[in-house]
Amino acid sequence: MRIILLGPPGCGKGTQGDLIEKKYGFPKISSGDLLRAAVQKGTPLGKKAEAMMNRGELVSDDIVIEMIKERISKADCQSGYVLDGFPRNITQAQKLEDIEGKCQEMVFDIQLKTQSLIERLSARRICPRCEAIYNLAIHSPKKEGICDVCGGELIRRKDDTLEVIRERLRVYNEQTEPLVDYYQKKEVFHEIDGAREIEAVFRGIQSILDKEIGKFRETEVRR
Ligand SMILES: [Zn+2]
Repeated sequence: MRIILLGPPGCGKGTQGDLIEKKYGFPKISSGDLLRAAVQKGTPLGKKAEAMMNRGELVSDDIVIEMIKERISKADCQSGYVLDGFPRNITQAQKLEDIEGKCQEMVFDIQLKTQSLIERLSARRICPRCEAIYNLAIHSPKKEGICDVCGGELIRRKDDTLEVIRERLRVYNEQTEPLVDYYQKKEVFHEIDGAREIEAVFRGIQSILDKEIGKFRETEVRR
């Protein structure tokens, strides 16, 4: 079972990925986290990626795909996994299918209006010490400006300014619209209204997942 989470930055897909992992035991794989970890550890792929970033280039599809391939070949991914931030374009989606061949797939597109995304992203604060993420609109720290986890002082990320946010959303839409068409044609695509409370969004995902997992098990038994 391959679960793909689509949705613009700020839609809450990372949080939903965590909830799916907790409830179903499918590990959440974030391409951003993989990339950061590889760079930090200085793995061969990490070094290649770092060199590209230092030249101001986007990390190539090939490198991202290699990292994902390595990760999903691990034992904990054998019954399923959740992808967050990948694939970003049709090339990546097709390569993913090449790696895995036939695999039951579900795509959730978490949708939210641009104005709400801007509000959410502008309300985001991070802890530079332990990397905890807060949102003053939906998940604020107990004490204003202070991290609940480590007591560090919260800051606003440099790329959470209005201009940068608008640009990120524009790039996302440009890249992802063809991907949405692609998955819609495969009939594995589910639109999820992301403008609700975290729990309500998750209940929506859960009801679809339970149904699909049930169907999948039935065909397995019949075989
Ligand atoms: Zn902290």
